[in-house]
Amino acid sequence: MISGGSQERRGPAAAGAAPCSSQAGAVGGLDLGGGWGYAPSVESLRPPIRGEYGFFIDGKWRGAAEGKTFASLNPATGQGLAMVGEAGAEEVDLAVAAARRAYEGEWSRMSGGERGKYLFRIARLIQEKALELAVLETMDGGKPIRESRDVDLPLVAAHFFYYAGWADKLGYAFPGRRPRPVGVVGQIIPWNFPLLMLAWKVAPALACGNTVVLKAAETTPLTALHFARICEEAGLPDGVVNILTGAGATGEALVRHPGVDKIAFTGSTEVGKQIAAAVAGSAKRLTLELGGKGANVVFADAPLDQAVEGIVQGIYLNAGQVCCAGSRLLVEESVHDVVVGKLRDRLATLRVGDPLDKNTDVGAINSAAQLAKIRSLVASGVAEGAELFQAPGALPEQGFFFSPGFFTQVTPSHRIAREEIFGPVLSILTFRTPQEAAERANNTCYGLSAGIWTDKGGKMFQLAQQIKAGVIWANTYNKFDPTSPFGGYKESGFGREGGRQGLADYVVLE
Ligand code: NAP
Ligand code: MG
Repeated sequence: MISGGSQERRGPAAAGAAPCSSQAGAVGGLDLGGGWGYAPSVESLRPPIRGEYGFFIDGKWRGAAEGKTFASLNPATGQGLAMVGEAGAEEVDLAVAAARRAYEGEWSRMSGGERGKYLFRIARLIQEKALELAVLETMDGGKPIRESRDVDLPLVAAHFFYYAGWADKLGYAFPGRRPRPVGVVGQIIPWNFPLLMLAWKVAPALACGNTVVLKAAETTPLTALHFARICEEAGLPDGVVNILTGAGATGEALVRHPGVDKIAFTGSTEVGKQIAAAVAGSAKRLTLELGGKGANVVFADAPLDQAVEGIVQGIYLNAGQVCCAGSRLLVEESVHDVVVGKLRDRLATLRVGDPLDKNTDVGAINSAAQLAKIRSLVASGVAEGAELFQAPGALPEQGFFFSPGFFTQVTPSHRIAREEIFGPVLSILTFRTPQEAAERANNTCYGLSAGIWTDKGGKMFQLAQQIKAGVIWANTYNKFDPTSPFGGYKESGFGREGGRQGLADYVVLE
């Protein structure tokens, strides 16, 4: 059953020039009449996007072979932004060879202090170009500018600053041991936090003295290519960072290349399993950051208004296309109706539309394929008997958009309670005791994230110990910091990124 808005409801009211007018006058569910809505406030800065990009190999730009290019779209319009190359076995080979030369040349022998200077330089350049990169991220991937500007880019710079600081202190990270780099690292990243996932991978790898070949995601290659220009500007020695673009086959060629010493992958559990099988039996190291189905647990004694904000932050950040999204809300039965009522009101105030508008809360879905996946899983929820509520208001006519919403009447066996929707749709379940909350939270093949909302510290710690998840937020959600390790249990992968722990997979300890 479906109530509220609908993903099919599209209209000019929310499109293009007036992306936010669909919510005009509605504040906290209160209709204040015409004239109280938000005027469009579209970010005016435009990054210098080239018509065509090649690959960044050995410190030089190399054009793609004839016919081996594809377009990266702006998902908010469906229009092409730039043509990028599709790297094949030859380019992967060249990039790995360049990374090997750079590794065996000066980079692995350089002092940590000197390596750190390059990382600090990169971090400063990212800060200088932060708005330009944020706009590029938003145009290429569809996330709201407020997120790319205020969340992604500050975290990207912070990651480089943080690992720059470790470069000359590795001995302190591993007391009594002699850490040395692993060698040439192949890194494959997804499309939901393109530049941030690059930072999580490149910064610790370089700090430890490794060299890198990175494959950007097919739908969001542009910020990685602009990062390559930052490496040039920072004077990074040739071959230390190589950036390839392409599809799954490019990633697979990198994974299978015999010259790669370690693979670091962030993406879906399905592809992660294929990669694990591909490197099995080789000497390659592997870390996998995969999917999740995070439980956001709300007890009756929690500050409910704050919890509702945390629920919104947990599932509607980046339109729910977040591996650690709080996509399963477990709410104590006695406050179910109150929480659902507050959430329904809050949903009515979310502004969905042009990602470049500074007032937009929920932007575009990353691709037509992802939109189709969301629609199909949501349809399965309706077919299996859950009740769907979606934010009222029309969606833009162009581009890939989906109305944020939530399901009630969900049972643990529903697909929407088990599979990643990876979209702005929450599945709400209930529990009666802390024990049941723990069991339901753990009733998943994933183990990446969870949130707990309660007024009682003891209850918080007790439940946190029982939930099998790599990160557990207490009375908050989706907060990130470079000093804090992030990673999964079970089918969410293995290895940690961030913090001192994030260095461990990039060193060999002697
Ligand atoms: P995906 O399909 O697994 O793709 C991830 C990356 O792998 C992309 O660059 C992709 O290239 C590439 N790839 C595809 N097939 C490959 C193969 N056979 N061998 C090597 N590389 C291959 O995942 P996605 O849809 O982009 O991202 C969403 C998933 O990532 C979600 O499941 C999400 O939970 C997970 N994620 C996890 C974390 C975390 O830290 N745990 C963070 C963010 C996202 P193409 O782009 O060309 O397909
Ligand atoms: Mg794109």
